[in-house]
Amino acid sequence: ASRQFHPENSVFSLGGFTIGGDEIPVIAGPCSVESRQQILETAQAVKEAGANALRGGVFKPRQSPYSFQGLGEEGLEYMAEARALTGLPLVVEVMAESQLPLMSKYVDMLQIGARNMQNYSLLRAVGETHIPVLLKRGLSATIDDLLNAAEYILFGGNNRVVLCERGIRTFETATRNTTDINAIPVLKSLSHLPVVLDPSHSTGHTSFVSAVAKAAVAAGADGIIVEVHPDPEHAFSDGQQSLKPEEFARLVKQVKAVAEAV
Ligand code: PEP
Ligand code: MN
Repeated sequence: ASRQFHPENSVFSLGGFTIGGDEIPVIAGPCSVESRQQILETAQAVKEAGANALRGGVFKPRQSPYSFQGLGEEGLEYMAEARALTGLPLVVEVMAESQLPLMSKYVDMLQIGARNMQNYSLLRAVGETHIPVLLKRGLSATIDDLLNAAEYILFGGNNRVVLCERGIRTFETATRNTTDINAIPVLKSLSHLPVVLDPSHSTGHTSFVSAVAKAAVAAGADGIIVEVHPDPEHAFSDGQQSLKPEEFARLVKQVKAVAEAV
């Protein structure tokens, strides 16, 4: 992952866009795939607003085992339908090695969630696939921990890894997590891998998402991943931090304007 080993930025393409170069791709969609109607509606809305890829979880790492856990394969089928409808590539979290054969039939990019950033057997298994990976920083992981986690994936020969800052746990309780904005220029200087920010999980509040997304792009982020839901008040997960499609459309314009300016 080190820039000493690979001085040039790693740039790779994924379903019609490139990451790590001049483009600032935006990945958007709901926290969880909830129904066919919900994901198709969201996919069309984010596509129209200018998103480059569709996110949506089908295996959810919920704090409580009694909370909605995701639709599993049924959700992947709806995601595939959304891709057919919009052309957007799919970004979906994989929680366990045992899910990889199923996931690899459907997804264009595997997300490793914060809670699994140090699941080394999962990282190794993902490293042996040739599917691009979005690796999220762990809740209490240092930048060095994140880079070492990326190393596990690269070690297997999978070199399409994107690093994602999604906020860390600090003493601050005003927001869900604390956006480590420093991580962006620090990661860009230490590593050749693309770096994106998730302002949805890093703030935990709809009203702060856009400000922090713009800050990330100004700080040198290569892209943004953001939660969008057609009806956030009734979302099965993370509604409090999800943007409505019209709010997302404004964010895309602002993020692109900041990208032009830097
Ligand atoms: C998510 O993207 O919905 C998610 C669970 O993210 P994280 O792993 O960053 O908490
Ligand atoms: Mn979420």
